[in-house]
Amino acid sequence: MYDVVVVGAGFAGSVLARKAAEANRKVLVIEKRAHIGGNAYDEYQQDGILIHKYGPHIFHTNERKVWDFISRFTEWYLYEHKVLAAIEGTRVPIPFNFNTLYELFPSTMANRIESLLLETFEFGSKIPILQLKRTSDKELKNLAEYIYRYVFLGYTVKQWGCKPEELDENVTARIPIHLSRDNRYFQDQYQGLPQSGYTKMFEKMLDHKNIHIMLNTPLHDVIQINHETKQAYLLDSITLNCLIYTGKIDEFFNYKFGSLPYRSLDFTFETLPMEHYQELGQVNYPNNDDFTRITEYKYLTGQNNNNVTTISKEYPVAHKDGFNTPYYPIPKQANSELLERYSKEALQYKSVHFIGRLAEYKYYNMDTVVSKALNLSETLFK
Ligand code: FAD
Ligand code: UDP
Repeated sequence: MYDVVVVGAGFAGSVLARKAAEANRKVLVIEKRAHIGGNAYDEYQQDGILIHKYGPHIFHTNERKVWDFISRFTEWYLYEHKVLAAIEGTRVPIPFNFNTLYELFPSTMANRIESLLLETFEFGSKIPILQLKRTSDKELKNLAEYIYRYVFLGYTVKQWGCKPEELDENVTARIPIHLSRDNRYFQDQYQGLPQSGYTKMFEKMLDHKNIHIMLNTPLHDVIQINHETKQAYLLDSITLNCLIYTGKIDEFFNYKFGSLPYRSLDFTFETLPMEHYQELGQVNYPNNDDFTRITEYKYLTGQNNNNVTTISKEYPVAHKDGFNTPYYPIPKQANSELLERYSKEALQYKSVHFIGRLAEYKYYNMDTVVSKALNLSETLFK
């Protein structure tokens, strides 16, 4: 009946479904939510503003192959993300760069620090905060302590429930100190948002005669996993030769080794009777308030509406199964060890392919997921 069954209609599942369909496979996509698109799903508010239901999503990549593939299903609004952080009563560009330095410190001091940084590192370098903190130079160490204290500490404690040094270093290294005057949040070659939104883009990607989609369908409604034989079945009896699984890896194994922890978010959306609420798309609040950031969607999507605007605030919380969404895998040593046990187990299920942020328990951006899905499709659907 079906050659391929895909669990989850986010980026991982949808890219693989499309590639399989184009390789002449009959594909069934099952998705437990009432919509496709995974966490990149967007929808129009009552007042007509396009919002990202599961938080702000900006597409950025250096991989031409990824950009070209996604571009088959959408035109782009060529948006370059810029972020401010509220620090000591002012709003300064993030990632911390030379512009931030000059806005926060008196110019003679900023001048001295800039020279010192450029004696130590090359112009254009990106230095993770935890690396800069280890410097032996006293003045650079003071700078690092300041940035750590005002940019990273409060934000990270809110977002992750722990300090930066308790996480893998690559978490805070995502937003390194950038020795340049470039205020953009990302420097990738290709950046933008789908011109008509992510959901429309997913609709086009999944619109293929070989793809059948079932929404509101959790895995166990139609698929049985026999953990003895390590084989998956559709509707009790049909052996599945190719199951693409993009849900949580620990859930697939009924949490037999324990739960992999996640951070979740509570979002509040507010629509306000004004053209703009803030000066650009995202403002971070590392030091005050319980939320981490405020996003104003009109900046991201390029939507013109002079009368109203919609913002969201993100309040990080622990993830509880069945209560909220597992948004962020938590990259730290103990969790990698638990993941390793599940990953080893997963290798024994020869016809099941685990891919994506939940199935690999990796803090992936969208482009990495697309890239991995394209690579997997090349081996699976020759
Ligand atoms: P998902 O999008 O989570 O899709 C998995 C799908 O599987 C979901 O639809 C889920 O409902 C379904 N599913 C799970 N279990 C089952 C089951 N048992 N049965 C049936 N269906 C199931 N990335 C960027 O590149 N840029 C950004 O700006 C960006 N911003 C982000 C902001 C936030 C707040 C978050 C949380 C993430 C952000 N990301 C961003 C990351 C991005 O969301 C992910 O990289 C991407 O969505 C991962 O795709 P995926 O298919 O692996 O997972
Ligand atoms: N971060 C921070 N302060 C900031 C921005 C980021 O401390 O102003 C840290 C924080 O730990 C955050 C991580 O860097 O979780 C990654 O930030 P990013 O903006 O990439 O987070 P995402 O968009 O994935 O939520």
